[in-house]
Amino acid sequence: MRRREMNVHLKSEERLSILRAEDQFRRWNSLDDERFCIVCEKKFNGRQIEIRSFTNGKHQLHCPTEACRSGPHQWVYPGTPLVSDIVDPDWWGAAGSEPQKLSGLSDQTQFQRQDQV
Ligand SMILES: [Zn+2]
Repeated sequence: MRRREMNVHLKSEERLSILRAEDQFRRWNSLDDERFCIVCEKKFNGRQIEIRSFTNGKHQLHCPTEACRSGPHQWVYPGTPLVSDIVDPDWWGAAGSEPQKLSGLSDQTQFQRQDQV
């Protein structure tokens, strides 16, 4: 079994920030938080999630399972499948409703593969 290395080497806090910014459906308390992908039915944690960057500085989260193209909206908390979670507005209030982009982050992190939108 060959596993392609597609994740950038982000610092933990950078990775967590990206997860929080891009996953507007559920909250991330740490990179050890787990998600269950309803598409491929696999469980993974924040460290395993594939983060891709685009040339416009945006990031996109992908299921770590190869050939699975699901995104954050298809990931649920393990143990609570298919229950729609209400995002706590208080929690998001600190960051605002718009996803916060990390300025300067994309300059120093090079991805092996860059997808075009
Ligand atoms: Zn998946």
